[in-house]
Amino acid sequence: MNPLYGGVEAGGTKFTCAIGKSSGEILAYEEIPTTSPSETLGKVTEFFKSNQPVVSLGVGAFGPVDLDSGSNTYGYITKTPKQGWSNVDIKGPLTQSLAIPIELETDVGCAGLGEYFFGVAKGINNILYLTIGTGIGGASLLNGRVQHGAAHPEMGHIFIPHDLKTDPFPGSCPFHGDCFEGLASGPAIEQRAGQRAEQVIDPVRWDLEANYIALGITNLIVTLSPKIVVMGGGLIKHGGLIKEVQSLAQKLINGYMALPTITIASDRNAVRGAIRLAAQGS
Ligand code: ZN
Repeated sequence: MNPLYGGVEAGGTKFTCAIGKSSGEILAYEEIPTTSPSETLGKVTEFFKSNQPVVSLGVGAFGPVDLDSGSNTYGYITKTPKQGWSNVDIKGPLTQSLAIPIELETDVGCAGLGEYFFGVAKGINNILYLTIGTGIGGASLLNGRVQHGAAHPEMGHIFIPHDLKTDPFPGSCPFHGDCFEGLASGPAIEQRAGQRAEQVIDPVRWDLEANYIALGITNLIVTLSPKIVVMGGGLIKHGGLIKEVQSLAQKLINGYMALPTITIASDRNAVRGAIRLAAQGS
């Protein structure tokens, strides 16, 4: 019998838990709202204890998360704006309560793995995964492995041109103000417009958003030279946005190199990537 593996996408609003096979097939699935760390991790434990046993668990966490196995805070979510979740150990309590090996990655890293093994970037050996939502995060995958440096990359915090005359908004990033995330994340759109992103209908605001995403993506494309860019998060699904981003990025690159495919992510990519991570081991 094929062994079963667990996957968790640990997000700021919900923890998605699943049990599946290394082939990507999902057998059980549950979404748990993110409340306090102890309550949320307790419910995650409950899910895995009340379903078929898994041999190991992969967790894709929102970050920043400490992925350095030699560090004292390995498996901790470090400095996050998410209330109550700064310096919280997520690996330790799960290892203790479930007594199985746990593999840890970022949420975007797991999403990228899901796309490489099962999704729109299946088998492509150089992938850039970028999500635009509450924050902006990215992962670069080479031959199906997520690239890390001293810590995991923080692609949302690159600096992009900001014309204060057209857009006087100072940016929403608590660390940098008008970095990419500070200008183009969901909270940036909301603070600039004074309304929720999904309620913003003014096309000028969405043109501005497309422009920022195109600038951010172009910087990442010329740096990493991915064969495909996969875009996750709810915002990119806004009508016509991805087409506008593709066309603006094409203009910015200006024929200097080929523009890679820029496409929308598949569903449940992070949790399927987390299952695959568990199956692969470290
Ligand atoms: Zn920033």
